[in-house]
Amino acid sequence: MVTAAVVMPAMSVPALLLTEVTTHGSLRYLVLWAWAFAVLLPLIYLVLRISVSQQVRTDRLVASLNRELTAALEEADLQAANQAGQVHRREFERRLANALDMAGGESEVIDVVQRSLHSTLPESPVELLLADNSHAHLIRMAHSSPDGSAPCCGVDSPDHCPAARRAQIQQFVDSDDLDACPKLRERPGGGMSGLCVPVSIMGRTVGVIHATGQAGKTFGDDSLQDLGNLAKLAGARIGLLRVMAETQLQATTDNLTGLLNRRAFEQRLSAQRGGSSSLVVAMADLDHFKALNDTYGHETGDRALRLFSQVLTESVRAQDLVCRHGGEEFVVALVACPLPKAREILDTVRARLDVAVTVAGLPRFTVSFGVVDVAVGEDLPVAIGRADAALSEAKRAGRNRVFVHGTGRGEDTVEKVGGSLGEDPQTTVDANR
Ligand code: GH3
Ligand code: MG
Ligand code: MG
Repeated sequence: MVTAAVVMPAMSVPALLLTEVTTHGSLRYLVLWAWAFAVLLPLIYLVLRISVSQQVRTDRLVASLNRELTAALEEADLQAANQAGQVHRREFERRLANALDMAGGESEVIDVVQRSLHSTLPESPVELLLADNSHAHLIRMAHSSPDGSAPCCGVDSPDHCPAARRAQIQQFVDSDDLDACPKLRERPGGGMSGLCVPVSIMGRTVGVIHATGQAGKTFGDDSLQDLGNLAKLAGARIGLLRVMAETQLQATTDNLTGLLNRRAFEQRLSAQRGGSSSLVVAMADLDHFKALNDTYGHETGDRALRLFSQVLTESVRAQDLVCRHGGEEFVVALVACPLPKAREILDTVRARLDVAVTVAGLPRFTVSFGVVDVAVGEDLPVAIGRADAALSEAKRAGRNRVFVHGTGRGEDTVEKVGGSLGEDPQTTVDANR
């Protein structure tokens, strides 16, 4: 356009002047028209052509810029969506870790998993299967589904689950595929896809999170990552809780018998007693145990200690506490138990021990008990000291008996007892101190 604006006046002005000088009258108009047709029209055509081609180039450039802009916008949208997904996932992980951190027991961890399954895969049936203590059976611990029905994988043990066995996430696009998990086939509802995420506790794969979907549908990366994180964090929390429980158990129990140790017994009893309810304390000591050890060996002695612990625990009530006080000595706290009832319970222990020893094929051994009624407010160690003194009386009187410390009313306690290692059935009389 600029060229036209410069060239046309530059050519027209001299031509007009020339025409003015060289022609007159109507010839002048004819020459001017001829000039216009001969020179100006091609020039105008040329200018228009140049202008149109420039417009086409500009349009192409604009279209190309538009395409680049659209692509850049789409890329930006995608990145924003990814970032939103990552933010959402990080937020989910943060809340999940927080919830698991607050879970104080395995049942609470399972509850967190149950709620997380729904928020992770709201449109798919999904379940958590965990091995039982024997590690032989998988049990459904949690499930979620849009219509309330769980995927119900029929796998019965971790060894028969490909995901658990390989310790790898397994995705099956169609249950009819040649290499689909056999457990996906022949389920009610026909063909389906499946996703299986292994769950490990302390390095051992003990379960699987299992989800199903429509045949041919693959689960997205987000779902895979979320379920993978859920399996990892839940497994880690359960592992930590188990280690803590194990440590606590070791700190409070005796290794050989599994009974409370002395310190844990005293702590629990004072917490349970609260100084109010009546209490009977009995000290038990196996009779001639050194002779049993010397004659039959330490291993047999250990078996005898375990057997007695079992008989004692099974003979007392749920609210009572039993501890291994040391060596072959035990203390029993019978809570809110009158003395006659305590005697009855301890005599039952002696009778059951006699039968259990025979059944277990162990050499016969017996037990002696010293029993005291603990006064309200009396210190436990003091009461145990008195029970020990009563036990000494039982030993002195011939062993294999229950010696009840004086009731304070001056009456004697007489009982018949059975035979023991080197002892004959005897009768004991309480000294009543
Ligand atoms: P008494 O009837 O007077 O109680 O005689 P006793 O032989 O039972 O008593 P003594 O105190 O002389 O011996 C206790 C024995 O208990 C000695 C010890 O070897 C045994 N003993 C203590 N702890 C254990 C244990 O953990 N395992 C085994 N096998 N024996 C133990
Ligand atoms: Mg002893
Ligand atoms: Mg003894």
